[in-house]
Amino acid sequence: MATTADLVIIGAGVHGSSLAYHAAKRGVRSLTIERKTVASGATGASAGLIRMHSDLPLHSELAWKSFRYFQDWKQVVGGDCGFVRTGFLLLVAEELGEHLRRNVEVQQQLGIPTLLVKREDVQRLVPQLVAEDVDVAAFEPESGYADPTTTATSFMTAARDAGAELWQGVSVEEVVIERGAVSGVRTSAGNISTRMVVLAAGAWSKSLAATIGVELPLRTWVHDMAFVVRPAGFGHFPAVIDLGRGVYARPEGQNLALIGLKDGSPIVDSPEAVVRGAPNFTEQVVERVSQRFPTIAEGLLQSSLVGIDGITPDQHPILGAAGPTGFYVACGFSGSGFKTAPAIGDAMSRIVLDGPTAAPEISAFGYERFKNGTELEGPFPYPPDWH
Ligand SMILES: Cc1cc2nc3c(=O)[nH]c(=O)nc-3n(C[C@H](O)[C@H](O)[C@H](O)COP(=O)(O)OP(=O)(O)OC[C@H]3O[C@@H](n4cnc5c(N)ncnc54)[C@H](O)[C@@H]3O)c2cc1C
Repeated sequence: MATTADLVIIGAGVHGSSLAYHAAKRGVRSLTIERKTVASGATGASAGLIRMHSDLPLHSELAWKSFRYFQDWKQVVGGDCGFVRTGFLLLVAEELGEHLRRNVEVQQQLGIPTLLVKREDVQRLVPQLVAEDVDVAAFEPESGYADPTTTATSFMTAARDAGAELWQGVSVEEVVIERGAVSGVRTSAGNISTRMVVLAAGAWSKSLAATIGVELPLRTWVHDMAFVVRPAGFGHFPAVIDLGRGVYARPEGQNLALIGLKDGSPIVDSPEAVVRGAPNFTEQVVERVSQRFPTIAEGLLQSSLVGIDGITPDQHPILGAAGPTGFYVACGFSGSGFKTAPAIGDAMSRIVLDGPTAAPEISAFGYERFKNGTELEGPFPYPPDWH
């Protein structure tokens, strides 16, 4: 086992794995240390929805750049990511119709395949859906979902093929600082010397950063999802987020629907404080999804799961250098970080290897924004439950 590494990555979720892959492509042999297994955190629980629509243009750009990986995964990364093209439809409450129109315009200017559709189009695209109250919606014909565990695993496999190292079942217990700079990490399997550490430990990042005086404004978002057997004859349907009713759904494989709520996910101080998911989740999810897809209530509830992610005050990630020289963070993805992981791993590799100005596309996501009042908000925002 190595006792020195050029770069140590803490956590093998989709972000740690994407960074390991992009660093390996640059010839850097990183060591990723994961206390459980690849994708055992938020990534393994993720709904894996891939869409470019956002009320923050910077986020749309990162999702769009990442989309090119998902679409062409085998050629770009190798292996599989389980991408399924379903199309994606966004519905909003009437009072947000103008924001939706403007956001679609911005995204079209970025080259994203997205369009405005009217009630009749929505009805044609999704005959199972009740669209009486829909005036206008956004539709992304190319979008869909991927398998987050497979995605992280194939990033990590490609990284290892190119010389990266992965330790699983090993915890990082401390980042060691000497004279204001990173000098190593102390782990449950011994000490490693390194001058560069990227903390990509999801919701668990806050406590580790605090041990070296970096106070990340991170809390823990707790999110439930249900899997329902689609009733006979229900058929296929695009992924749908309905902001007005606070519910989303997408097909899962051939016969299931994955359903979640946009609001009501508990936010607690730390992963250790997580006791349970949203109260009355099952009743709420059945009630709300039935308003849009009345026949889905005839389907059988197959299973449910609860996952956690780190959430920041503006619900956008913290990316880049923080605190001592050689210490970087990539966390706080606030329930929305799967779709952007390819582009962010690429950008983080440039920041770490080439310096702080090497990835202008993520410079606005720096840790300092919470101190200097430059938290992120798009020009046509949606309510805070939007992720
Ligand atoms: C239920 C749910 C649904 C979601 N749906 C979507 C979606 O549809 N689309 C989307 O874009 N995003 C979605 N997200 C968000 C997305 O999944 C996350 O933002 C993303 O997976 C975060 O990846 P990560 O690598 O930062 O963190 P994680 O996947 O949490 O990885 C962090 C890793 O660090 C490890 N670790 C922690 N502490 C230590 C330590 N001390 N030493 C070593 N290792 C450590 C953990 O074991 C873990 O494996 C969802 C999230 C959840 C929870």
